[in-house]
Amino acid sequence: MRLTADYHVHSTYSRHNHGKSTIEEIVQRAVDIGLEEIAITDHGPKHYMYGIRQDKIKEAKEKVIEMRERYPQIKILMGVEANILDYKGNTDITDEVLKYCDIILCGYHVGALFSTPRDAWKFLVKNKIGKINEEVLREMEARNTNAIHEVMRKNKIDILTHPGDKIPVNIDSIAAIAQETGTILEINNSHSHLNAEEIKIASKYKVKFAINSDAHIKDDIGSYNKGLKAAVDAGLDLRRIVNIKL
Ligand SMILES: [Zn+2]
Ligand SMILES: [Zn+2]
Repeated sequence: MRLTADYHVHSTYSRHNHGKSTIEEIVQRAVDIGLEEIAITDHGPKHYMYGIRQDKIKEAKEKVIEMRERYPQIKILMGVEANILDYKGNTDITDEVLKYCDIILCGYHVGALFSTPRDAWKFLVKNKIGKINEEVLREMEARNTNAIHEVMRKNKIDILTHPGDKIPVNIDSIAAIAQETGTILEINNSHSHLNAEEIKIASKYKVKFAINSDAHIKDDIGSYNKGLKAAVDAGLDLRRIVNIKL
């Protein structure tokens, strides 16, 4: 069994030194470990700390195109890990992102520039209150889940990253919508979501999964053992993981 592709890697196009390796170093490493496909997916421009600058997306794509010529043995995708910005389904998938990206990932991040102070309060504060108040927890789980539904319905998301990380969500309900929208659910090797229990719940629906490293340095590219263990523990038919060859 082997990993054929890693669809979630951060590069030096992230701001504040978030991604440590250049696009070329990432591609070289992916070639070295025998991957057939690699995606460069820095945070979307509305991540206030780490997002790729809007005016750098074109430059990053040009770099990817240059790498395709230099490393024809591997398929290289320009992508982004977009941010959920509010409870209405808005993201930072801008026209620039749509124009230059071949693959779009999207997930919830605490560092996103949320659409309104009210959204920020709900995402950042009310979800914390939910940790000590059962009623608020239930309310927020429903709200967060609905936000992700809206995101998947309003945008063409290829892969939903680390669902369930940082905020409570209803995986059953998210998987049902992912089936409708054809969104792949990520088993993130760095973030422990989806975990085995969540994979088991999601697998009741006709959804596909991807195990991604979420590497921020080239040495972590292609790491998938933890994610694979979660999938095996969940009893998942591994043929449903799009980037594994049995
Ligand atoms: Zn993420
Ligand atoms: Zn990431």
